[in-house]
Amino acid sequence: MSQTVCILGVTGSIGQSTLKILQQHPEQYSVFAVTAHSRMDALVEICKQYQPKIAVVPQDKVDELAQKLRDAKLNHIEILSGEAGLISVAEHPSVDVVMAAIVGAAGLLPTLAAVKAGKRVLLANKEALVMSGDLMMNAAREHGALLLPVDSEHNAIFQCLPSDYINAKRNGQPQLGVKQILLTASGGPFLNHSLEQLHHVTPAQACKHPNWSMGQKISVDSATLMNKGLELIEACHLFAVSEDYITVVVHPESIIHSMVQYVDGSTLAQMGNPDMCTPIAHALAWPERLTTHVPPLDLFIHQQLNFQAPDVTRFPALKLARCAMQAGGTAPTLLNAANEIAVAAFLQQQIKFTQIPQVVEHTLNQIAYAQADTLEAILAADQHARRVAFDYIETGS
Ligand code: NAD
Ligand code: MG
Repeated sequence: MSQTVCILGVTGSIGQSTLKILQQHPEQYSVFAVTAHSRMDALVEICKQYQPKIAVVPQDKVDELAQKLRDAKLNHIEILSGEAGLISVAEHPSVDVVMAAIVGAAGLLPTLAAVKAGKRVLLANKEALVMSGDLMMNAAREHGALLLPVDSEHNAIFQCLPSDYINAKRNGQPQLGVKQILLTASGGPFLNHSLEQLHHVTPAQACKHPNWSMGQKISVDSATLMNKGLELIEACHLFAVSEDYITVVVHPESIIHSMVQYVDGSTLAQMGNPDMCTPIAHALAWPERLTTHVPPLDLFIHQQLNFQAPDVTRFPALKLARCAMQAGGTAPTLLNAANEIAVAAFLQQQIKFTQIPQVVEHTLNQIAYAQADTLEAILAADQHARRVAFDYIETGS
């Protein structure tokens, strides 16, 4: 039977890749709802092609979208707005699958709503899980949601773990022979830059990733290695392991998407051409498989795969994230919020690239960590960190 899909953040890079897969399998999936924060023309084009029942935009974009939909003779599409609109489509009874592909903390409430409604949730929006951690994982268990990783590394780890690993672990059973997780990182566009060179890089250079084409925020995160830090925290929650279970391995070719090592000496890797359509298709169909346009890996072309340890002196963001995960409570929430503010300031050329981790470190030092057991505590920590990071950028203190 056909499944109905809600795509949160449909105009983004992950949103577009999701549509590409759905387009190839019209008999299996239909688009029920889409959301976008900007680019109304792109949204109207998507509405024309996929005919969703509902489109969600910010309140100040409703009139513009309504006019454009009328011009395109698409008046039958219902328009909802704001956070309430996002939540309402994420938990809508007619929706089977929710693709959580909004960038940043803005995705938390709709993603959590989808989880609480027991949906199959395809998680691209790592920031939502980083900031809410146990709260999100517990909600998934309580409400029977299937939270499947779209992040390529986590999707790879999920494919390499024993099939009942997570449940067995949560039930206090042994690790089924799993020894450690090897989380791969491309190293980003500045892998071989000196600290001096890093100081002068521009937003345009930071947004030009060597292997992946992604939104601006995750591109900058990949360049600072904060993306790997966020992914380390994401992996701890998704796979119920502590941070010392996870080793980050720089692998510049992005052909191996991550690995799992077992106690008997086995190392399982998931490999493929770097294209997000593969993990999206996997999460959509799991435990089935869907065909995609992604060409199979040609190992005669990729004859050499390289690996190295990350350099946390030039890329301190990774160390900050590991420390935040060790500290627990609201520390990852603070880290994430301060990083969002710092990345936005870098993109607006208010701060240098090398100041991004400094803003995050300052914020983590300024605020006492609290328990992260309620949504209120998480949202309060997020807001507090944003204020502290913002003040530091504005005034230097
Ligand atoms: P993007 O910037 O290309 O798209 C973001 C989407 O979210 C857009 O549709 C935008 O309109 C919407 N959005 C932005 N701000 C919003 C707000 N305040 N409220 C509601 N909607 C808002 O980002 P992306 O690269 O597609 O990444 C999306 C998420 O997926 C991020 O969390 C990212 O870390 C994660 N992710 C992306 C990739 C990738 O290859 N792009 C890979 C792994 C994980
Ligand atoms: Mg990733």
